[in-house]
Amino acid sequence: MPQPTAGVQLYQGKAKTVTLNDAQTVNLFFKDDVTAFNAQKHRVIPGKGCINSRISEVLFIYLRSVGISNHYLKRIDPATLQCQRAEMLPLEVVVRFVTAGSLVKRTGLPPLSPCDPPVIEFYYKRDDLGDPIVNSDHIRLLNLASVEDVAHLSAQALKTAGALHRLCGRAGLNLIDIKFEYGRHNGALILADEISPDSCRLHDRKTGRILDKDLFRRDLGDLLDGYNEVLSRLQSALLEESP
Ligand code: UDP
Repeated sequence: MPQPTAGVQLYQGKAKTVTLNDAQTVNLFFKDDVTAFNAQKHRVIPGKGCINSRISEVLFIYLRSVGISNHYLKRIDPATLQCQRAEMLPLEVVVRFVTAGSLVKRTGLPPLSPCDPPVIEFYYKRDDLGDPIVNSDHIRLLNLASVEDVAHLSAQALKTAGALHRLCGRAGLNLIDIKFEYGRHNGALILADEISPDSCRLHDRKTGRILDKDLFRRDLGDLLDGYNEVLSRLQSALLEESP
């Protein structure tokens, strides 16, 4: 079974382990664990870490190619990516193109209603509080980021989600919503963490088939089947557009 690289462990998350490589870089090990509902539901799915590390790598490389900088540096092993070290903000930035999940619960809108323009939300990463939604006043009150940082994060998240939405469209996938995390690297905010079907919702454009972590959350089918389908479709879409 894949293991995290040796070294000082900086962070042990539900689905990832971060170890220090040198002062400027970290190794991001993608675990086979999958959790939902604040870790009340948990399973180990052998192979999930490798596939999520591959999907994240493909997407980070793509984003860089369209001018969106991020922390990815190189692959270390099938489940580990080397990335720039960043001081993570305890925030999740969610961009929504279509209603789903907590937005449906919060608003009462029917699931799969278009959000045009996309909806941007911030969540405060605090397991003991259940990761509450926060607005820019709360973020300032908590001293998590400045007003300018919040505006910058909103614009960056929207631009990044837009680029991924277009790529997914070419792969026959409908990007419903997506979560990003950012950190400070040499003083600047940088896109970090992972981008995978654990952190977004993806549906087949034609059939509506669910291909993301809702497979696990809602017991809808085989998670690895869905994630493998996402990876192969993204790879085909990227191959088609390379010269
Ligand atoms: N999300 C995530 N990590 C979290 C919470 C949400 O990656 O801790 C992602 C989730 O997979 C979805 C989007 O953010 O793509 C919006 O999630 P939502 O607020 O609907 O919460 P959920 O109902 O998924 O718990």
